[in-house]
Amino acid sequence: MPLVPMRQILDEAAKGGYGVGAFNVNNMEQIQAIMQAANDTNSPVIIQASRGALKYSKMIYLKKLMEAAAEEFPHIPVAMHLDHGNSLETCKEAIALGFTSVMMDGSLGEDGKTPNSYEQNVAVTLAVVEYAHPLGVTVEGELGCLGGIEDGHGAGLSDAQVQDHLTDPAQAEDFVAKTKLDALAVAIGTSHGAYKSGRKDPVTGEMLPPALAMERIHEIHKRMPNCHMVMHGSSSVPKELVDIINQYGGNMPDTFGIPIEQIQDGIKHGVRKVNVDTDSRLAITGAIRKVFAEKPEKFDPRDYLKPAREAAYEVYVARMKAFGQAGHAGDYKPMTLEDAKALYR
Ligand SMILES: [Zn+2]
Repeated sequence: MPLVPMRQILDEAAKGGYGVGAFNVNNMEQIQAIMQAANDTNSPVIIQASRGALKYSKMIYLKKLMEAAAEEFPHIPVAMHLDHGNSLETCKEAIALGFTSVMMDGSLGEDGKTPNSYEQNVAVTLAVVEYAHPLGVTVEGELGCLGGIEDGHGAGLSDAQVQDHLTDPAQAEDFVAKTKLDALAVAIGTSHGAYKSGRKDPVTGEMLPPALAMERIHEIHKRMPNCHMVMHGSSSVPKELVDIINQYGGNMPDTFGIPIEQIQDGIKHGVRKVNVDTDSRLAITGAIRKVFAEKPEKFDPRDYLKPAREAAYEVYVARMKAFGQAGHAGDYKPMTLEDAKALYR
């Protein structure tokens, strides 16, 4: 099967009332683990690469690995998505490489750090839509700013600043109408990376999950029932994965991710794409540390990359089941970019 336009995966998810995990990749082991999990749970899936990932893998390697993934599992709909594109040029590059979907993150300037004005965001997102849609390629945009920094991308907003940059539902309606994008990333208080919250219980001093403005998702869904929303920074940062890392010589402070129940509430209200990166990183790191600690005589990379791949697989399977995409791979006939071109015309 060729890679399918992400728009179709999201449209079908809306019909079926489920969400689809969009998992970040840098290497072969992650891609293989995602595809094995998608195969074993019969899930459509979105594989995404950030600019940092493309730089690390020298672009062509990731492209070929994703093509291999689609070839090995022809019955699984897979979209190949650029995460946090920073300019029209970057999006064009990804499309030329064969990506079936791009994110134009116009919430930040080209430096990936400084917040853009609303007008700048509309202009650059619209430019990408006008370039991508005639080619059948899906476009995700972002309104509002997320906390945290990942792969050098992000405004690095503090907890307090994040609350000032949440997505405004009325503005979201205007943004979607003006840009005609396919998917809208919303800022509701999630952050990229493993450290999502500085919130502590004032009495016990225990870490608390970040306070999410779920009501904004509810409101946007009420205003635009057909708008596909995207939750970024949606790793759950399971304590058991952090514990494995720390048990075998790691040094990660206490932290908290996004509880699965909150993601499921989002999915009930129009969230169709759920971005998860950190959880697979944690699983991989823990598995490798465990081998290094328990079998220090080992030096063949396969001895630790195989358990790493298996640990990531378990995370992907759990997320695919929790988001509801499991069981839906065979629901529809996958589109090509050619089909999608006709759709946009
Ligand atoms: Zn993101």
